[in-house]
Amino acid sequence: MDAVKSYSKFIKKNMERPEKVKKLINLGLFIAYHYVKFFRDKRLPESFHFLNKYSIKCVIDSLNQPQNSAWVNIFAPSEFLIAMDIKPLFIEAYSSFMSGFFIEDCLIDAAESKGISNTLCSYHKTFLGASELGILEKPRFMITTSIACDANIPTFRYLSKKFGVPLCIIDVPYKYSKEAVSYVKKQLQELAAKLEEAFKRKLDLDKLREIVKTENKTRALMREYLNYVGKKTLQTTMTFEMYMLFASHVFIGSKETLKFYEMLVSDIKKAPEKSGKSVFFVHILPMFETNFKQYFNFGEKYHIAGSDINFDFLHEIDENDPFLGIAERLILTSLNGGIDRRVSRIRELLEYIKPDGIIQFCHLGCKQSMGGAFVIKKLASEMGIPFLCLDGDCVDKRNNQEGQNRTRLEAFLEML
Ligand code: SF4
Repeated sequence: MDAVKSYSKFIKKNMERPEKVKKLINLGLFIAYHYVKFFRDKRLPESFHFLNKYSIKCVIDSLNQPQNSAWVNIFAPSEFLIAMDIKPLFIEAYSSFMSGFFIEDCLIDAAESKGISNTLCSYHKTFLGASELGILEKPRFMITTSIACDANIPTFRYLSKKFGVPLCIIDVPYKYSKEAVSYVKKQLQELAAKLEEAFKRKLDLDKLREIVKTENKTRALMREYLNYVGKKTLQTTMTFEMYMLFASHVFIGSKETLKFYEMLVSDIKKAPEKSGKSVFFVHILPMFETNFKQYFNFGEKYHIAGSDINFDFLHEIDENDPFLGIAERLILTSLNGGIDRRVSRIRELLEYIKPDGIIQFCHLGCKQSMGGAFVIKKLASEMGIPFLCLDGDCVDKRNNQEGQNRTRLEAFLEML
């Protein structure tokens, strides 16, 4: 930890020299990759060890090849990128890594000093700050959607204008209908054409079908995994639960993601029967918050029993017409549309997993998360499951009241 803090201090000292900071960040990621490769944490199941390496490598690949990369958010239809061998960089991942390097405060301050509102989600502020300081090299393309996150469209529009990089925004209607599916399908066809133009290469439809096929196999494994989550205790941490976003969203459809889920199902089958208390998380997990780390990382008394964001879509996608299939997926994800759809998905997951408690960590600036907290609390109370709602920040550590969090978290865990 001290080495990371010294590294962070050194980067901060050089913030005025973007080329040097870029190199330092790349070096940090390179070391992180090799560290986890050669010094495996023995407590970690094989699957998470694999995911750890894969996730870091994905970030390294996109940063190393900016002209073969596209900036996206977690809800972007990245199947097209994987099929065209374009490296996606999702802003939530980049910002989390910067927080892991303890430099998010500098990046956020840089964004705010340029007039970015301090109430914007810190995943976005961190990324915007990095672009303001010139430590992010412009990609060749950007993709976002209108799903769930109100911060996405303004952030991506700003970045696209600033860097002069083409942006594709997929507008996803709230309700499922034949018309809505054709509307999104048409946008996806336009997206494919724009990607072909920007990257000067053809989208191979058979390869896209292959990606969707792999995605369907992966989702079948996710459903299988869910059968065990409530019955077994898999040793994990807040960070690995968040790393699962690589597998459940941006890199779904890749061979590596399929391999991860195969390993995960095998690991959970071998895991010991459930002991201690299990806690289901709504939305994202505060992986840098000291108290949460203390209680949940490789916890014996308390363990993480999933989070709804990793299971926002569990059906099959049409393999013959991937444009139609992906359009349906975007519309039907539980995070799209009214809160009632998300609540139904959370109810289904709770019935499957049967956790002892639910925690919703309301990330500062995330309006969709805060806006739904009372409805989810009502669901928890109907189902007789203790519920804790805490406010804080998953990226900007300055916004976490650790003393208050400790009191409330401990009281909740005590009650379980
Ligand atoms: S936490 Fe909320 S506001 Fe921030 S990126 Fe995620 S969905 Fe968007």
